[in-house]
Amino acid sequence: MDSKLIAFATQDVPRYTSYPTAVQFDSDFPGSTADEWLSGLAPETRLSVYVHIPFCRQLCWYCGCHTSVPNGYDRAARYVEYLVRDIRRSASIFGGRKGLVTHLHFGGGTPTYLDDFHIAELVEAIDTGFGLAPGGEVALESDPRTLTRERARVLARMGFNRISFGVQDFATPVQMRINRLQTYGLVAAANDYLREAGFASVNFDLMYGLPGQTVESVARTAQQAAGLKPDRISVFGYAHVPWFKKHQKMINDADLPGVHGRYAQATMIETGLNAQGYASIGLDHFALEHDELTRAARNGTMRRNFQGYTTDVSDALIAFGASAIGEFSHGFAQSARDTLEWSQHIERGESPVVRGIVTTPEDRMRAEAIERLMCDLNVNVAEIAARHGLDAAVFSDLGERMAPAIAAGIASLNGAHVTVPAEQRLFLRNVAAAFDTHFVSAPNRHARAV
Ligand code: SF4
Repeated sequence: MDSKLIAFATQDVPRYTSYPTAVQFDSDFPGSTADEWLSGLAPETRLSVYVHIPFCRQLCWYCGCHTSVPNGYDRAARYVEYLVRDIRRSASIFGGRKGLVTHLHFGGGTPTYLDDFHIAELVEAIDTGFGLAPGGEVALESDPRTLTRERARVLARMGFNRISFGVQDFATPVQMRINRLQTYGLVAAANDYLREAGFASVNFDLMYGLPGQTVESVARTAQQAAGLKPDRISVFGYAHVPWFKKHQKMINDADLPGVHGRYAQATMIETGLNAQGYASIGLDHFALEHDELTRAARNGTMRRNFQGYTTDVSDALIAFGASAIGEFSHGFAQSARDTLEWSQHIERGESPVVRGIVTTPEDRMRAEAIERLMCDLNVNVAEIAARHGLDAAVFSDLGERMAPAIAAGIASLNGAHVTVPAEQRLFLRNVAAAFDTHFVSAPNRHARAV
């Protein structure tokens, strides 16, 4: 890596799955505002629904998600009861047309920690309350260690057609250091079960920067993963924040690659996946030619939301579960992170939303500029300002804000046109930060760029 890039690679910058980002949310945001946004949606609004399941069978030491390992299944069963109550309450507030949920996504944690009965109960509650659109995407994140042939068939019968697996790295020495032992054979078998059951799309998550990983180990993992032909592969850098995620203290700092190692691993994975027919998409996704994400990336219709890159073009995101974030045209609304606090709100028949932000017209314009840059690697800020009815002069300081990135060769500015060269896509978040008027560069607030 060129020495000019080190300062950017080690900079902590937002992931820009939303703008403003979650750290800007107001911490005493009234739940009644989220209910007003919900009741104000037009009856024909296309909806996306997210359900958060904050439970796992065992904790991976690298985990940065909002999850826990419950003492027994009862806790998860009670959680599902509250989810169903909140889904019914929200559906009655919405009161719009049924059948417009084009995307339903179960994330976590590990949604397949739940048994089949509880997953089916949740799908039914959403279908009854909001209505799944025919042919819509019904997706879940899963742990291949929780998937059997029968389970894959049952999930397909419930309507699931897309699944995402955490693979991370196939090397046993790496897996031992992150408390996640899953052999290549186990992942390959789970992949076969999903294809047999008729899943239209399978996504693998890989990581770099994990303890014990080397350029050679990630190259081999990328080759093995691509050999199983998942439709999409997402690649994330490990964020080591043991002061924030206590279980990461189980990871020995001395086993972690440095900035040059992380950069070399990330670029090696990209080279390996490209060689196996995977197109580079946005910051950190890869997809085969036939995949609709590849088409969306090429024709400029790809979107970026809390689940990462997506073809989802819904007008509102309704979120259920502890810590889940909903998105409306007026702003963002996040439920309580603590499951007890979250359930107490629902018990009282009120919204579990406790954090959020009302966005301004300028926020919404900047959000679109950042989203287009993160998706397309280029953006015309004058066009976006005009579309939002604002004066492009709001971007008049962009040249000054982007000057270090331009000098380092990770971005260019021609008139109103900002471009990040494809070979510098790892630095997209650094360049996007130039559009972010809320951003304060400070260590440990966000994940490192590389
Ligand atoms: S399975 Fe996923 S959510 Fe659960 S602990 Fe591991 S990384 Fe975190």
